[in-house]
Amino acid sequence: MSKVIKTGLTYIFAITFSIVIFMFVHFANRYQLNPKEVYKVYLDGKSIGNIKNKEELEEYINDEQLDLKQKYNVDKVFIPSGVDIQKCTTYEKDVLTAKQVNNIIKKEKPFTIEGYKVTIKSNTEGEDNIVLNVLDKNIFDKAIRSVVNAFVPSEDVNNYENDTQPEIKETGTLIEDIYIDQDITIKHGYISTDEEIFTDEKTLTKYLMFGELKEDQYYTVKEGDTIDSIAYNNKLATEEFLVVNPEFTSANNLLSVGQQVKIGLINPIVDVVVETHNVIDQESKYETITEEDGSLAYGTEKVITEGQNGMDRLTTKIKSVNGETTNVVIVSSETLTPSVSKVVKVGTKVYSGGGTPAMVGSWAWPTISKYYISSHFGYRWGKIHEALDIAGSGEGSPIFAAGPGTVVTSQNKGSLGNHVTIKHANGYYTLYAHMSSRLVSVGQTVEKGQQIGTMGHTGFATGTHLHFGLYYNGMPYRDGTPMDPMILYK
Ligand SMILES: [Zn+2]
Repeated sequence: MSKVIKTGLTYIFAITFSIVIFMFVHFANRYQLNPKEVYKVYLDGKSIGNIKNKEELEEYINDEQLDLKQKYNVDKVFIPSGVDIQKCTTYEKDVLTAKQVNNIIKKEKPFTIEGYKVTIKSNTEGEDNIVLNVLDKNIFDKAIRSVVNAFVPSEDVNNYENDTQPEIKETGTLIEDIYIDQDITIKHGYISTDEEIFTDEKTLTKYLMFGELKEDQYYTVKEGDTIDSIAYNNKLATEEFLVVNPEFTSANNLLSVGQQVKIGLINPIVDVVVETHNVIDQESKYETITEEDGSLAYGTEKVITEGQNGMDRLTTKIKSVNGETTNVVIVSSETLTPSVSKVVKVGTKVYSGGGTPAMVGSWAWPTISKYYISSHFGYRWGKIHEALDIAGSGEGSPIFAAGPGTVVTSQNKGSLGNHVTIKHANGYYTLYAHMSSRLVSVGQTVEKGQQIGTMGHTGFATGTHLHFGLYYNGMPYRDGTPMDPMILYK
């Protein structure tokens, strides 16, 4: 062979050899040389992977089912629908483990068990409904019952339901209606085991009462503690403390040092509404009549007749929501003991260079004598309620200045609605809110007992009432220190 041909052949051979190598490598990447038998797993008709061993996957699914059966204590756990396993021959290289495929299935579609979906419709515009899962309808019924019993003793609920409430002899209460304010629907269905499923009454009750599932908060009783002091120091009303610690029946119950009590704030998901008919005896505050006396020095006073509080028997209709009074109507009243007015002579004799007179004499009650205190000064739902809520006197009934002073606010604004602030001597300020009308304007001086407006429910008010505040050394909700207005009448 010539050298030229020989060289040419060498080239051809080298090129051909390269192509073959290239094709071999290339094809080997794409195809297995031999197809193999696998199980193709489909979920809703879509292939999610190949496995070698069908039994292995079935075992995983079985184990999962067993675990869930034990966790929820049920007979049946349903595997995700749409799982299909088919034997096939494939050239595909990738084979997953049964565990991997099981995890894909679990992620895409959870196991389900039979249960109930409870929808609690929100009564607040724009707020989401609450949906929760329960294993058994009874669990929900019992939990609701426990929530009701947190606010109304079970004996009273039973008497109401069985129509065996004891008659009111002199004073007392009759329940007229108890209901949950939200629409609740319960539907049977299949519940995803990925979601929270309530399986016992106690946990569900806790969720319904606190609005979330969290660890109970405890306080250890120390020397000198009372239920009132523990409640107040933990921003609870005494009634709220009694709701979270049902083993105590009243604020007078004894505590022992070292005892653990719950101090969690409740935030119920449902509203337990209780409507009652009540006959109560209510003290009526005496009036003070002042007479000017030119022979007495300015700023001094002389009591001619001591005042005496009277007693009224009131028949009321009271509506409460989760233990908080939201509406009071006084249906009728009778005077058991009339009050005796206090008569005071007030000096008008002025000395030269007199200075500011001290505020003397007692304070006037800001409403007419037929009233009901629907909320006291103190903590309510973790926030301080800086006033006394006085209800029952009715929409449009007169509101009086508690003492003489100067009107420093008179406006209809914000959550207080129509409100008036009066600046008194000695740094005191009184606030009158939610009024239906105001009869005084800023800068005006008012006398004690002068009508300054009418009772209403303007601003953020649940039901008609007067929100009556007392502040020291500054304006309400600004620099003033809130004080319990009851101190004025002690
Ligand atoms: Zn109030």
